[in-house]
Amino acid sequence: MRPALARIDLDALRHNYRLARQRHGGRALAVVKANAYGHGAVRCAWALADQADGYAVAFLDEALELRAAGITQPILLLEGVFDAAELAAVAEQGLWQVVHHEDQIRMLEAAPLAAALPVWLKVNSGMNRAGFVGPAVAQAWQRLQASGKVSDITLMTHFARADEPQVISTAEQLAEFDAATRELPGPRSLANSAAVLGWPDAHRDWARPGILLYGADPMPAEGNGLRPVMTLESAVIAVREIPPGSPLGYGARFVAEQPTRVGLVAMGYADGYPRTVPDGTPLTVDGQPSRLIGRVSMDMLTVDLTHLPAAGIGSRVELWGKEVPVNRIAAAANTISYELLCNVKRVGVRYEGGEA
Ligand SMILES: *Cc1c(COP(=O)(O)O)cnc(C)c1O
Repeated sequence: MRPALARIDLDALRHNYRLARQRHGGRALAVVKANAYGHGAVRCAWALADQADGYAVAFLDEALELRAAGITQPILLLEGVFDAAELAAVAEQGLWQVVHHEDQIRMLEAAPLAAALPVWLKVNSGMNRAGFVGPAVAQAWQRLQASGKVSDITLMTHFARADEPQVISTAEQLAEFDAATRELPGPRSLANSAAVLGWPDAHRDWARPGILLYGADPMPAEGNGLRPVMTLESAVIAVREIPPGSPLGYGARFVAEQPTRVGLVAMGYADGYPRTVPDGTPLTVDGQPSRLIGRVSMDMLTVDLTHLPAAGIGSRVELWGKEVPVNRIAAAANTISYELLCNVKRVGVRYEGGEA
């Protein structure tokens, strides 16, 4: 069997959720959108089922997958509903919805609902992507209240730059949120992972941690005690020696300067390992530090074994995980851990741990 594998450490996931809840206080929705950032939404949701106050996903189908798998806790749709049919499904499945746009209020007002539904009203406090601004927040709140279709309203907002501790933007968003919601009762939810870890002023009734659950610290200082959940690994499947001056791989990007022992690894960009990383990108071979050399291909990549005489066919190669922080690879690829984790596909998946 091809050795390319994503190992998912569900004990680490449980640890990270507990840590988020402790750091924030109050309750926490485990954000499991995008197939739990590539980790498997159903398995991750089940591993957290005895601890989680609820879950958040992007849209209805992601919530229905969890309900079909037997998850009974609250599930919030972060984008809310797109049409009246979805609203009926939300009511039937007992889901929670974000309302960020006037169309969604209209849909609620027009819906023939048997019972009133909980709603999370989104405040645009400065990200300018979704939500109501300033006085429109209270107007939206009044309309929801008057519709008779809404049971209780949680007030929420989302930060654009909470992962930048030196930047004033988050404090400004906090002030804007507080000003727009001053007269309104009900629970609040502000903090994503970065705000859970770095902005105690943003800690209110509900946290919404995502990336931190998966052990990738969004703050530049890191050191928050998160445990990586995914380890992306494979093995050396062939070895060759190339003399100085020999090119390696597509485009001959790497050319050997000295006799070089090259390990061929079953992992490529079709598995989600980024094609854009340069020569020298870190990885480990049998636990020893080494480096990528040559361009990443669709199914394979090549690593330097010159300094590792004991390594050979079958040697384990970690692309990211407990030995190689995913944030290092994200930086090398000029992206963020989120994108790398979401993009993992085609590889085998092995779950470990996760029992209470
Ligand atoms: C995705 C998302 C989150 C989680 O963000 P992280 O940075 O992964 O913690 C929280 N809130 C909203 C509205 C989101 O869309």
